[in-house]
Amino acid sequence: MTAASDAKRRAQRGGAERSSDERADAKRPQQKPPWLRVRLRWTPEFERVQATLEGQRLHTVCASAACPNLGECWSRGTATFMIGGNLCTRRCGFCDVATGRPAALDPREPERVAAAVETLGLAFAVVTCVARDDLPDGGAGQMALTVRAIRERCPETGIEVLIADYKGSEPALRRVLDAGPDVLNHNLETVARLTRRVRVAARYERSLLVLRRAAELRPDIPTKSGLMLGLGETAPEVLRALADLREAGVSLLTLGQYLQPSPSHLPVARYVPPDEFEAWAERARAIGFREVAAGPLVRSSYRAEALAARPRPPSAAASL
Ligand code: SF4
Repeated sequence: MTAASDAKRRAQRGGAERSSDERADAKRPQQKPPWLRVRLRWTPEFERVQATLEGQRLHTVCASAACPNLGECWSRGTATFMIGGNLCTRRCGFCDVATGRPAALDPREPERVAAAVETLGLAFAVVTCVARDDLPDGGAGQMALTVRAIRERCPETGIEVLIADYKGSEPALRRVLDAGPDVLNHNLETVARLTRRVRVAARYERSLLVLRRAAELRPDIPTKSGLMLGLGETAPEVLRALADLREAGVSLLTLGQYLQPSPSHLPVARYVPPDEFEAWAERARAIGFREVAAGPLVRSSYRAEALAARPRPPSAAASL
């Protein structure tokens, strides 16, 4: 597929689920506030990451989802691997990963991810997967194989998996948990009211069920989730979502600003200022989250190693 056809396809995505008002809003240019401006850093480490990924023919969510932190993370020598190909079977209104019919799974992909982890010398690796609703297990088997391949090659490396909901399948979730990741991450993404609009094929309650089950099945593996702010949610709705996550046993939380990847994606309702993120982080810790990363540019895998490793402060001991 050429870059031009890829860009055209991306521009066509997501419009079907939106009202004409929303599409009109999306076309209006929105001035980004200064706190969202990022400078692209080009370092030897960046080039090393790029060359390793290209050499192993691997995808990253950093590039496929146009993450604003790509320059920073790659310059620190880290990236988030995206397995299962680079075409997603879902069409979420916020996400820049391309939708399409994915190719068959590559049986060598887990080993190539492990080789890249080894080459980059990662102390902590984050692996995510496109939604593979075309597969009976939703891609859980490939994720489990990838965790095992990394463990085999790099036993000291911490591993976080950022999983899809596997349509709520318990066997699929068990498969991933049995592989023994260090952190299981599944994003709630937004509040209950906006879920159908933001994550068309997902369900708010189903995501909570995935997280609750994971915490029950493997209480030794911390669970993590994240929300995007700026999609039109209200403060009471955010608070409800945080309470729901705590009730589901989630201990690690990320909160970041939603950014519209293209005019065809959902519009930004509001740019949330940094001090508001700080206030949410304090609130989240007060209701029992062990660690919280909150800020305009925070993404679910942003500085994941630090979030997973931080000791539990005494003030975070409270629970709902
Ligand atoms: S925040 Fe995550 S997805 Fe974004 S560049 Fe960093 S590692 Fe990649």
